[in-house]
Amino acid sequence: MNEQAEHIKTLIIGSGPAGYTAAIYAARADLKPVVYTGLEPGGQLTTTTEVDNFPGYPEGVDGPTMMVQLQQQAERFGTDVRIGMATAVEFSKEKGGLHRVTIDNQKEVLAETVIISTGATAKYLGLPSEQRLRGGGVSACAVCDGFFYKGQDVAIVGGGDTAAEEATYLANICSKVTMLVRKDHMRASKAMQHRVTSTPNIDLRYNTEIDEVLGEQVVEGLRMVNNQTGEKEEIAITGLFIAIGHKPNTDIFKGQLDMDEAGYLLTEGKSTKTNIPGVFASGDVQDKEYRQAVTAAGTGCMAALDAERYLATIETPV
Ligand code: NDP
Repeated sequence: MNEQAEHIKTLIIGSGPAGYTAAIYAARADLKPVVYTGLEPGGQLTTTTEVDNFPGYPEGVDGPTMMVQLQQQAERFGTDVRIGMATAVEFSKEKGGLHRVTIDNQKEVLAETVIISTGATAKYLGLPSEQRLRGGGVSACAVCDGFFYKGQDVAIVGGGDTAAEEATYLANICSKVTMLVRKDHMRASKAMQHRVTSTPNIDLRYNTEIDEVLGEQVVEGLRMVNNQTGEKEEIAITGLFIAIGHKPNTDIFKGQLDMDEAGYLLTEGKSTKTNIPGVFASGDVQDKEYRQAVTAAGTGCMAALDAERYLATIETPV
C-alpha cells in the first residue's frame, strides 16, 4: 500500500517505564530504536504523585519527573522519541519478516522487531450515569483532576493501592473524601490501608457500591447502596473518582497475538517473546500480576535483549 514506508530496526510502542527501558537497552545495542509514545506520553506514572518504591530514589520521586528522566536517558543514547499512536498492525508470521505498523491511521512503518509496551488503561464501572458524567465530575485520575475539587466533597471507588493512594491525595486537597469499597476489606497493602484509616477526612465505607451518580450536566451527588443490607444513602459530592483497576491496551493486536481472556499478551516462558517472531511484549500489557514500575522496566530490558538476540539470528532484510 505504501511504497515509502519507513524502515525501522526496532520499533517500540509505548512510553512508560517498560518502553523507555527497552529503548535505553536497544539504543545502547545499536538497534536504532524509535519510540512512539501513544496518547499518554510517559504512561501511567505521569498520573501518579510520589513513587517511593523505585530503587535508586532514596527520597522518592514524583512520577512525571521520573518519566522525563527516563525519556532523557533513552534519548541520550540516540533513541528517536516521537508523539504518535500505533493504530493498526500487520505482523509477519515469518522469521525475519517485516512487521507493518500504522501510526495515527496514516503513516506506515516497517519494523524488523517490535517491542509492545502499550500498558493498561483505567477501568470504569459502566453505569450509565457514570458514563454520562465523564468529564463532568467523573474522573479516573485524582492526580490529574483532583485540583478542580479543592475544598469540596468528593468520593472515590475502589479498594486497591490506587484507590488508597488517590484517596489520601484527595484528602489533602478536598474537605471530605468518601471511599467506597465493595468488599468488607481492602486489597491495598497494609501500609496504604493504614494511611487511609489514619486520615481523618476520609469516610471509609465497606460493602458499599454506587447505585447511581446524581446530576445532569455535572456531578451533584451519589446514591450509594450497602450490598449487605440493601440500604441506600445519598450524599452530596462534586467529584467522583474511579480507581478500580486497568484494562491492557491490546485491542489492535487481537487476532494476531496470543492473549489471555482479559486481553493481557502471552509471552513464552520467562522471555518477552510473543507468538510472532520478532515481536516482544513488556510491561503491564503482559503482566497482570506485579504491575510495578520496576517490574515493567525489568521486562523492558528483557525485551530489548530478546530483540537483539533475535536480530542476531536472522539475515538483515533489505
Ligand atoms: P487492583 O486491581 O489492585 O484493585 C482494584 C480495586 O477495585 C479492588 O479493590 C477491586 O475490588 C475494586 N473493583 C474492581 N472492580 C470494581 C467494581 N466494578 N466496583 C467496585 N470496586 C471494584 O488495581 P489498582 O489500580 O489499585 O492497582 C493495580 C496494581 O498497581 C496493584 O498491583 C497495586 O499494588 C499497584 N499499585 C502500586 C502503587 C504503589 O506501590 N505506590 C500505587 C498504585 C497501584 P475487589 O478487591 O473486590 O476485587
